Amino acid sequence: VLYPDLPEHGLIVLIGASGAGKSTLARTWPSSQVLSLDALRGTVSDEPGNQEATGDAADILKLILERRMARKLNTVIDATNVEETVRMELVTAAKRHGMPTVAVIVATPLTVCLQRQSLRPDSRRVPEDIVRSQHRAMVHSHQRLTAEGFNTVIFADALNRLEPYLNRLSQ
Ligand code: ATP
Ligand code: MG
Repeated sequence: VLYPDLPEHGLIVLIGASGAGKSTLARTWPSSQVLSLDALRGTVSDEPGNQEATGDAADILKLILERRMARKLNTVIDATNVEETVRMELVTAAKRHGMPTVAVIVATPLTVCLQRQSLRPDSRRVPEDIVRSQHRAMVHSHQRLTAEGFNTVIFADALNRLEPYLNRLSQ
């Protein structure tokens, strides 16, 4: 059991701007449990950074998630997930399968998210105005998550580890 304070079989939705460290955190779960929108963009278009492929990648992500939840398997969604409509679709699907939902806010400061973009190759660099708007949407989403139906809302810390927060919550 990786995170004893999280449901063993649930839907874990990572929320954060590009560069926040979502994929880094996602790597702490077994890779078969992680659905990465970037990876699926690569699967359908050969270019993980190709925004035009987002719709097709999201269709496949939802299909795989559906099949995994039918098996009651734990799944981590590695995408920005800063838009309420995107999250609502995920939560609705999980409720339909009776799976608990966890929102993990990766609230890395905007300045850090932007600085990390500058270290990336062109094909993986997200434009500054988009990162700014994702970060704003992440902050805005924070107080809405419980109303959206998430059973648990937690923060990842600066080292992208969940443990300290989970321990604090359970003390
Ligand atoms: P995107 O939405 O664009 O996929 P992301 O949220 O998945 O972004 P990552 O790729 O996980 O972000 O992290 C961005 C960069 O920051 C990577 O180069 C990663 O190595 C680095 N990074 C992530 N977490 C940390 C950390 N705790 N300390 C230092 N560097 C980190
Ligand atoms: Mg990523």
